[in-house]
Amino acid sequence: MELALSAEDRAFAAEVRAFLDAELTEELRDAGRWMTSVYGDHEASLEWQRRLHARGWAAPAWPRQWGGGEFSVTQRYIFQRECALAGAPPLSPMGIAMCGPALLGHGSEEQKAHFLPRILTGEHFWCQGYSEPHAGSDLAPLKMRAVRDGDHFVCTGTKIWTTHANVANWIFCLVRTGQFDRPQLGITFLLIPMDSPGVTVQPIVMTSGEHIQNQIFFDEVRVPVANAVGAIDDGWTVAKYLLEFERGGSAYAPGLQVRLERIREMAGSLMEDPGFAARVAEAQIRVDVLEVYEFRALTAAARGGRPGISGSVMKILGTELSQHLTELALEAAGPYGLAFQPAAGAAGGPNLIPHDPGLKGPREAAIAPLKYLNDRAGSIYAGSNEIQRNIIAKAQLGL
Ligand SMILES: Cc1cc2nc3c(=O)[nH]c(=O)nc-3n(C[C@H](O)[C@H](O)[C@H](O)COP(=O)(O)OP(=O)(O)OC[C@H]3O[C@@H](n4cnc5c(N)ncnc54)[C@H](O)[C@@H]3O)c2cc1C
Repeated sequence: MELALSAEDRAFAAEVRAFLDAELTEELRDAGRWMTSVYGDHEASLEWQRRLHARGWAAPAWPRQWGGGEFSVTQRYIFQRECALAGAPPLSPMGIAMCGPALLGHGSEEQKAHFLPRILTGEHFWCQGYSEPHAGSDLAPLKMRAVRDGDHFVCTGTKIWTTHANVANWIFCLVRTGQFDRPQLGITFLLIPMDSPGVTVQPIVMTSGEHIQNQIFFDEVRVPVANAVGAIDDGWTVAKYLLEFERGGSAYAPGLQVRLERIREMAGSLMEDPGFAARVAEAQIRVDVLEVYEFRALTAAARGGRPGISGSVMKILGTELSQHLTELALEAAGPYGLAFQPAAGAAGGPNLIPHDPGLKGPREAAIAPLKYLNDRAGSIYAGSNEIQRNIIAKAQLGL
């Protein structure tokens, strides 16, 4: 394992810090600070994307030919780490980190030329239509039908839990175009404009009061066959390719380090309580261990190794630690940790609301219960942690 950065990588880190100092305004930092979910304020995140795009850094992993940063694996980690430490609002992953790579890997030249620039500018804002009411962890039996009618598909069915469907203007969907012996066959990866006639979006409101997820109903929606990515009936190949990005693409430790520091600040004199201080110290050790694991995975990837199970390990450790930190934050918030004050923030929505005069206690403390409630979803989405454990058991232990 190589923990020390090369002189070239240190220079890159300094360049990123200088950019963040110049471009990350107080308002944008606020959007990162007051997040109650994993998403920042929608408008602020788009503004941050525009600034990154102007520097050629909106899509660190994409090739330069398509407007990306073409960063090395190490540079991507450095970039992500510096952005997290500076408190930048994260960009929504569905376009840049999911649909973009799917198009780069499996799209036609026309599709790349049309969609990739619009993803970078934010003109096209994407959501992901995989899950259905009866297809989640076991996704292959999905039922949303797409019946061929000339040069169009006619799509009917429903997608559920769709993050950002309320603000997105495009959705990439897995749809059923054929029936074969194996349910993985006969699925097509299809791009659908959200303003198509027959698309209805219904909100799913979280226990924390936020509206980020949705259920979408498709009623005989006509979509050009030209919007299929990859071969018709072979969308599972595209979907699997994309899931690798969803599960393996991010480092958790930098963001967790920042949150732990905030918990210490919020706790104030509670840090003198030996029991609480010991639990914060234990959490610090767990975050440090995860950081070392992430460095190790990074070193392996930088040397061209296959990610293997590291994406699953990072997902489990990262989300479970994140949930633990929301519990410590509740304690640090003291009595305010017991109050439900949804006006303190609306994650993924306008969380740059001015400080509500009716809010009880400091805002950091007021959002602690909302973060706690929202973070319960971390072990479910992007492949539940039970499914990640199955992957590890199969790949590593041969079970
Ligand atoms: C906040 C949030 C955002 C989401 N955003 C999106 C989105 O944008 N787009 C999208 O398509 N989907 C999205 N999802 C859906 C998400 O991918 C699914 O919830 C997830 O895959 C689990 O599927 P399910 O909800 O149908 O639960 P199920 O698959 O029914 O699972 C129920 C429980 O059983 C466990 N389980 C299932 N199978 C096994 C097994 N073989 N072994 C052991 N345990 C098992 C699961 O771990 C879980 O605890 C989102 C979900 C949440 C909560």
